[in-house]
Amino acid sequence: MNDCLFCKIVKGEIPSTKVYEDELCYVFNDIAPTAPVHFLAIPKEHIASAADITPENSAVVAHIFEVIAKLSKDMGMTNGFRVVSNCGESAGQTVHHLHFHVLSGREFTWPAG
Ligand code: AMP
Ligand code: ZN
Repeated sequence: MNDCLFCKIVKGEIPSTKVYEDELCYVFNDIAPTAPVHFLAIPKEHIASAADITPENSAVVAHIFEVIAKLSKDMGMTNGFRVVSNCGESAGQTVHHLHFHVLSGREFTWPAG
């Protein structure tokens, strides 16, 4: 995707603060954090949203959740954390490349607004 912001971040064409990277995924700090810890975990391949996960590409999603679990331990997120993926207009998705927000370091209410 030539004009996808997060594809450009994966390629290093737009700067980001890297938290973690491997052959399948890239993890970086959100530019407008809403919690003391707020990073985004994304597949390197372009998947538009959670509605576009299929049997052919879902392995990377499982991998991303394994990475999030490891990072939660490595980063000492012992009091808990929240994983969010906004999908579509009414859910507030603004970047159309699948991403999982990982938030920690404060109390969270539920249900989310
Ligand atoms: P969403 O609104 O769920 O699609 O989430 C998109 C997220 O990307 C928002 O939390 C933004 O703050 C974040 N964001 C947008 N541009 C950048 C960027 N250049 N670097 C890091 N995070 C970004
Ligand atoms: Zn993309």
